Amino acid sequence: MPARIIALTNQKGGCGKTTTAVNLSTALASMGQRVLLLDMDPQGNASIHLGISIYDLPVSMYDVLVDPDKMLRDAIYKTPVENLDIVPSNIELSGAELELVNMIGRESTLKDSMDGTENEYDFIFIDCPPSLGLLTLNALTTSTEVMIPVQTEYFALEGMKKLLKSVEVVKKRLNHNLEVTGIIPTMYDVRVNLSDAIMEKIIECFGNKVFKTKIRKNVRLAESPSFGIPIEVYSPKSHGAHDYCCLAKEVLNNG
Ligand code: ATP
Ligand code: MG
Repeated sequence: MPARIIALTNQKGGCGKTTTAVNLSTALASMGQRVLLLDMDPQGNASIHLGISIYDLPVSMYDVLVDPDKMLRDAIYKTPVENLDIVPSNIELSGAELELVNMIGRESTLKDSMDGTENEYDFIFIDCPPSLGLLTLNALTTSTEVMIPVQTEYFALEGMKKLLKSVEVVKKRLNHNLEVTGIIPTMYDVRVNLSDAIMEKIIECFGNKVFKTKIRKNVRLAESPSFGIPIEVYSPKSHGAHDYCCLAKEVLNNG
């Protein structure tokens, strides 16, 4: 069976896309799933979080997108986590967005570079940048599923209409199979009543698409990127590690 290809997207910045991409990928990999993580953000945060030195990459997501002779498999690197590979990115990728504008098939260059890679993994996660530009469009065109991390705070649902509209347009014009399969509540604060009020609102909007697992606010999750290791390695007994493990089980079950 080809991989489930899952775009983690939300044009809202700092809502936990990268933290989820890295730690959900790691949790699934440690359950024996073969996982590939595509870093689609010029910030390269996911790559850094997995200990990749992004400043001198011989080949990266940039090349995959702009060079028709470079396939996705040419840019796959191993991570320190068993069963988890990555296609890293760095600031060069911001140039790709501009270069793509004048290219034929600009929304589907990622998809066109797949070359059967989807048959070699169980999951491919795409960590999207905080915008709805061509990079995110490429991610949505390639994916089978969209998962949306939503921070449980006041402005959480702001911009959600626009995001869902973009997903609808891509589904209609470029990728008929695309489905929003999950809303992931992030940075949930058990001590704050507002978190519960926002949770109610999210469930009101998205019903059973909302994962039962809430990713709690956890300082260990915020610390681990600077060490270049996922939460499961940095602090295996933390709430963060526990929550991402629960989320991974849910993702496996709702396949
Ligand atoms: P961007 O839109 O810039 O790509 P993002 O949506 O990828 O951001 P993250 O980078 O995952 O968001 O998270 C934003 C910040 O919040 C980071 O510093 C991260 O370490 C921290 N963070 C993420 N999740 C949690 C959590 N559950 N508890 C505490 N801190 C968190
Ligand atoms: Mg990010």
